Amino acid sequence: MSKKSGVCLFCGRKANEVRLLIQGIDGEICDSCAEQAHAIVKEQFGDEEKTFKPSGMTLKKPAEIKRFLDQYVIGQDEAKRTLAVAVYNHYKRISQRVQADEVEIEKSNIILVGETGTGKTLLARTIAKMLNVPFAIADATVLTEAGYVGEDVENILVRLLQAADYDVQATERGIVFIDEIDKIARKSDNPSITRDVSGEGVQQAMLKLLEGSVVNVPPQGGRKHPEQKMIAVNTKDILFIAGGAFDGIDRLIAARKRTNVIGYGTGGNEAIDKDNMLQYIAPADLKKYGLIPEIVGRLPVITHLNPLDAEALKRILTEPKNALVKQFTKLFAMDKINLVIKDEALDFVVEKAIEFKVGARGLRSIMEAILNDAMFELPSDINATELVIDRAYAEAKLEKSGMQKLHVGD
Ligand code: ADP
Repeated sequence: MSKKSGVCLFCGRKANEVRLLIQGIDGEICDSCAEQAHAIVKEQFGDEEKTFKPSGMTLKKPAEIKRFLDQYVIGQDEAKRTLAVAVYNHYKRISQRVQADEVEIEKSNIILVGETGTGKTLLARTIAKMLNVPFAIADATVLTEAGYVGEDVENILVRLLQAADYDVQATERGIVFIDEIDKIARKSDNPSITRDVSGEGVQQAMLKLLEGSVVNVPPQGGRKHPEQKMIAVNTKDILFIAGGAFDGIDRLIAARKRTNVIGYGTGGNEAIDKDNMLQYIAPADLKKYGLIPEIVGRLPVITHLNPLDAEALKRILTEPKNALVKQFTKLFAMDKINLVIKDEALDFVVEKAIEFKVGARGLRSIMEAILNDAMFELPSDINATELVIDRAYAEAKLEKSGMQKLHVGD
């Protein structure tokens, strides 16, 4: 039974001496004692508050984010570390409720530079999965300036809205991956790009999104027309991750470093690793490549992905949480068949992926080609309990599939 004493159980002041008395089961506490109690709790457990939770989202520390990424993405350590920090800071920024005179943390959108099929999309997608925020992929090549045939830049947000089930609040905390940002580079600075629509207009339109502004989005996508009801989306807290292969940028990096791709640096003692120039990428190179300075300025976190060598490709086949070998093993297990892929067969798959120049992206189709006959026949074979794939089997099946021929003469 609760007792109403009219005094604070902690400081003994009476109701008329305090602003508020809060009733408990066995007495009351005044407002100032409650505040003090809160301060003590905060001092004691303050550290735990560092794990932010902007409405339902758990934010892990950078090291935890990297560990999560390690489960799905092989290698790319530097990109993972940079991403982990940028994402952590981004969501810290969102959770910060800025007072008028406080330091406001600016948004740090990210640009990932690396050959196609090295894990750029996978990294962005995995981050979104971990954070449990809406995620959308937009292909920069289909975007055009308003007035041209193609997609308006706003359509990037349509996809994010759809991924968020039209929950605007969730949309505004989402992540957008803009693929092939290198393809909207200005032509004048980069003669290798042949687009008939100047990339600069698209870049200008995209700038609006990156900067953070309220954009009116047609909910079903497509072109805007006057009768359509629009949804206003503020892009201020949306994290944009851009990715691109930037073919040929190694030459620009080399030139900036006053060296050429063949030699060593002449400026200082620093030896240049000419096989992987991307590791030296800097904003200046992106500008030189044809991104307008404003865009480069709005993508302040820049990192690179390494090309995948045979060892990395083999690890990709077997190690990630949803590695291809694990997926096929599971598929066969559902038919009570034990799939054994010998190491020599995995080496063969990797060799072919390198030979066909399809990288990690091609691993699946090579595996499918090798396993297709077995996946067709074994489910109806009541005696089948095990399938062992050795190199000879893999070679024979790939040969039969005709895939080999497709790539000869490429
Ligand atoms: P990008 O965006 O760089 O062109 P993706 O991330 O789309 O390449 O990679 C294509 C596919 O290849 C992924 O879905 C994944 O299966 C595989 N892959 C690529 N890089 C990696 C990696 N570093 N670790 C694990 N899988 C990878």
